[in-house]
Amino acid sequence: MSKSILVLSDALRYDVAKDNMGFLGHLVESKQSTLYKIIGELPSMSRPMYETIHTGVPSSDHGVVANSIVRLSNKPNVFQLLKNAGKVTAAAAYYWYSELYNRAPYDRIDDKETDDESLNIQHGRFYTEDEYPDIELFASAAHLVRKFSPDYLLLHPMGMDYHGETFGSDSKEYRNHAIYQDSKLAPLIMEWKERGYTVFVTGDHGINADGGHGGTTPEQRTVPFFVIQPSGKGRGETGEVISHLQIAPTILKLLNVTIPETMKHPPLSLD
Ligand SMILES: [Zn+2]
Repeated sequence: MSKSILVLSDALRYDVAKDNMGFLGHLVESKQSTLYKIIGELPSMSRPMYETIHTGVPSSDHGVVANSIVRLSNKPNVFQLLKNAGKVTAAAAYYWYSELYNRAPYDRIDDKETDDESLNIQHGRFYTEDEYPDIELFASAAHLVRKFSPDYLLLHPMGMDYHGETFGSDSKEYRNHAIYQDSKLAPLIMEWKERGYTVFVTGDHGINADGGHGGTTPEQRTVPFFVIQPSGKGRGETGEVISHLQIAPTILKLLNVTIPETMKHPPLSLD
């Protein structure tokens, strides 16, 4: 029975991940992981990309074209499709995820921790502050894995975005935070592999030296896509360019759930 964890590191750039995330680099170098490059969908903004990644649909089609649009998703999406297929879903993520898939607007008290099988994100642990420490979120995600063995878990830390927006991408703070995330993820990835999870690590968008994103430059839109499988097999750095729109169908295929017609891009072939 396949299970999957998506680590969606907010504003994790391809080049900075490749240069500074040495444990992931080791897995790639030793061909225990496959690394693809994603030329990100547009606009390179957070809420539009959260929805694009989980629906496999471009922003002009799903309609969440700006961060200011606060409503539930109205497209078939990974959380809803998995829940309807009887799978267990979980997320440790920014509260916009709760608004897209559980309930909008977000109630800071009632929605912060959810354990409800009727919700699309059944086991949710949400945060509202951009500077919420990644290490606390990682612990929440790891706890959800141990306690509920979800079929799909989203881990969505904000640390790269926070340091990038505060100090710009050409800063020791932004780069060093990539080293930090890698070192904290390393033991978790080992545990999750052992538990039979296929782990993906990617970003929703990049960020530029001004600390901005939303535009079309490579700095703002190029993100990594690491694939780490429980078999330990990978193809190393492929140089192959894939699309954000392939993530949702790839997760559904891995979990043996029918891909809806709205998802037009092919899933990745994982073997
Ligand atoms: Zn973002």
